[in-house]
Amino acid sequence: MARFDAKSGLGTRAIHAGNAPDPRTGAVAVPVYQTSTYAQEALGKHKGYEYARSQNPTREALEENLASLESGTHGFAFASGLAATSVLLHLLKSGDHVVASNNMYGGTFRLFEQVFAHLGMRFTYVDSSNLAAVEAAIEPATKLIYVETPTNPLLTITDLSGIAAIGVGRGILTACDNTFATPILQRPLELGIDIVLHSTTKYLNGHSDMVGGALVVRRDDVAQRLRFLQNAVGAVPGPWDCWLALRGIKTLPLRMERHEKNARELASWLVAQAKGAKAPRVIYPGLPEHPGHALAKRQMAGFGGIISLDFPDLETGTRFAEALRLFTLGESLGGVESLVTHPATMTHAAVPKAQREATGFTDGLVRLSVGCEDVADLRADLERGLAAVAGVGAGASQG
Ligand SMILES: *Cc1c(COP(=O)(O)O)cnc(C)c1O
Repeated sequence: MARFDAKSGLGTRAIHAGNAPDPRTGAVAVPVYQTSTYAQEALGKHKGYEYARSQNPTREALEENLASLESGTHGFAFASGLAATSVLLHLLKSGDHVVASNNMYGGTFRLFEQVFAHLGMRFTYVDSSNLAAVEAAIEPATKLIYVETPTNPLLTITDLSGIAAIGVGRGILTACDNTFATPILQRPLELGIDIVLHSTTKYLNGHSDMVGGALVVRRDDVAQRLRFLQNAVGAVPGPWDCWLALRGIKTLPLRMERHEKNARELASWLVAQAKGAKAPRVIYPGLPEHPGHALAKRQMAGFGGIISLDFPDLETGTRFAEALRLFTLGESLGGVESLVTHPATMTHAAVPKAQREATGFTDGLVRLSVGCEDVADLRADLERGLAAVAGVGAGASQG
């Protein structure tokens, strides 16, 4: 009897999907098949493995695991999140039009505007939390609706069933970057979205020790094309990185529970603390005042581990970020260690200031990736940050 099936819980599948004991030795951990090629018995006679860009058993284990967690049928692993986005965009051709969220990971915007726009594709950015705005942006040439939810870094929530409904009636592909939520909190394919995208670098790996990406689908026609493109474009991950992601995912459900618990607690605490002229506006979908709160509650199984703090100006935001000790100042998110990022100068430097500000993304915005440390220690660190900014502009100590 199988150890698990599609009806098993996410915790069970995170550990077992793709992770069958090695048929040769019984090894419980999937081996790292560090090879570029495979011996063939005769011309055209082989075990299904010809060349490692095309097939690698360690990569296949990760792809099977991801497909299971996202309620998909086909998973594809890539060398980075942006490699996955590139391959997704290769489903389109010159002249095609894309409607995308106006607040997304900065690298996605750069890829669209500075790479694919040069190849003749056109992009319209809209507030995808407003379905009427998405619908209004559709043109005869629109072939893809690409959304991120929650968005990076404003944590805007988009109604995925609504997006799927707009796409399906018009034969337009729909894609969701599910990096922030992970399949533990949100499964876009179950809501009718065609393609799920991940930067596995973030929560899926969870240990800040590799870079990778993935696409997951349940449509056979799209899967067939993606399989061709994965090999033809060649942006595949090495087996070690696949192995690290696969190992990280085994604890994804546990980690998300802790990220979420810590973030919820800190968000409420920050709201209570945030008083005075230099206090930040706290942005977290778990807060009742967040505009996407009700939708997030319906669409997600939790609100995630990212909190954004909108400080009144650049100086205050950077002073806060630099005062933290336990939150490491750095790019990225989703690891067990807490990180603090200043998106305007770090992860989203490629997005023009005017466009950032039009979406409410200011120079004072600081993003916290709440890790799995003890919440009391994280709170004490944030307290240090708030104390450092309380006197900005008031001639306080330079600390
Ligand atoms: C980091 C990130 C990406 C890009 O992934 P890489 O692995 O860095 O290429 C895409 N989307 C989101 C939401 C991200 O946070």
